[in-house]
Amino acid sequence: MNSSQRSPMLRMSRGYATASTDALQVICGTMPLDLEAKYRYYKGLIKARTAFALGNVQYNGGDETSKATIDLENELMDIWQSRWNSSIKERTIYEYFSRVRNRVEKIWIELDHFTVQFLTGHGDFKSKLMKLGLKEEDTCACGEIETAAHVLRYCKIYEEERSQAEERLNQAGVSTGVNNPKEIVLSREAFIIFKGLCKEILTKKEAQRRNAEQE
Ligand SMILES: [Zn+2]
Repeated sequence: MNSSQRSPMLRMSRGYATASTDALQVICGTMPLDLEAKYRYYKGLIKARTAFALGNVQYNGGDETSKATIDLENELMDIWQSRWNSSIKERTIYEYFSRVRNRVEKIWIELDHFTVQFLTGHGDFKSKLMKLGLKEEDTCACGEIETAAHVLRYCKIYEEERSQAEERLNQAGVSTGVNNPKEIVLSREAFIIFKGLCKEILTKKEAQRRNAEQE
């Protein structure tokens, strides 16, 4: 059922098709389809004042409809959260959004093709491409293993872009620079700086690759 959500989410996230459905749901802040369907069904019962029990939710058919709706939402969020906790495939995005609610509440997050690659770890990174059989080696132009974390946090090729972004992040109240994934997505201001850095890095990376091919 949830796989039918994939293509709209891929469009929304502009992500790489290899990221799992679990990850795409969290990155887009889109509740899994089966839970969304449950939400609509039980919300209909509340509206019709029909009693039901679902997990920790006990609705007696009375007038406390807004409380029941909040309880219902919390229950489904908890189910989604426990699925996300046990989804072992996608640890990169888990570092940014370990709480699904945190992602859902950040309605100001607008994703682009560049940011998604760093958030998911699926993208133009040789270690990932090698695992997928698309590259024969996994080393960055600097000689280290090329992962999303390496490129974003450590690679000396992007030192200048990174330090400029870190200076701006500092002004925005993020003292940990690009090293703490949770801090980077905490505020809209920090996220926009992070987004700019993702674009700069991947644009530079692509330009350098083209230059190397021409030589
Ligand atoms: Zn490197």
